[in-house]
Amino acid sequence: MEPTQNSFLSEVVQASGEKLQACYQCQKCSAGCPVAYAMDILPNQVIRHIQYDHRERVLSSKTIWICASCYTCSVRCPNNIDIAKIMDTLRNIAIRSGVKPGEKDIPLFHSVFLDAIKSKGRIHELSLILQFKTKTRDFLKDAALGWKMYRKGKIKLFPSKFGGGKEIQEIFNSFEKREAK
Ligand code: SF4
Ligand code: SF4
Repeated sequence: MEPTQNSFLSEVVQASGEKLQACYQCQKCSAGCPVAYAMDILPNQVIRHIQYDHRERVLSSKTIWICASCYTCSVRCPNNIDIAKIMDTLRNIAIRSGVKPGEKDIPLFHSVFLDAIKSKGRIHELSLILQFKTKTRDFLKDAALGWKMYRKGKIKLFPSKFGGGKEIQEIFNSFEKREAK
């Protein structure tokens, strides 16, 4: 199956650099995926939908946001298709296209996480949680788990010192400039 010009398949092949036309649906990727149980379409089905140009179905799926980028599927694929990279590509295309995500909190968490890295150069978990909760307004969800983590010393009250914030900001700025061209 070769991608036709302007098709969703050619868009994903070009952006990811992966020859997903080679997929013959052996399903090894889905069989090894640790979060397949939470997905609305399985990794092998994502590949099939792309081959059939089902753009909306793929970009609005929960799957592309639930994928934890663990690379198990990429290692298992007999055709060396890097499915994790394709998932990452699909997230990027979905954001740029303004498609309503199938999972609302996960993309929001991604954006809060990246904003925190951009402004401070590293994550302070407590500030990250507070910023995320302020946006979701769901203050009680996972509160018990947060308290447990705090008591075990996994969440610190104050951020630790980090000297590389300026360099990280420069990386973000140069990337944003390149994207704007
Ligand atoms: S493991 Fe590779 S060939 Fe098999 S279904 Fe998944 S992507 Fe296709
Ligand atoms: S990279 Fe994503 S799709 Fe692949 S096995 Fe891991 S969680 Fe599943």
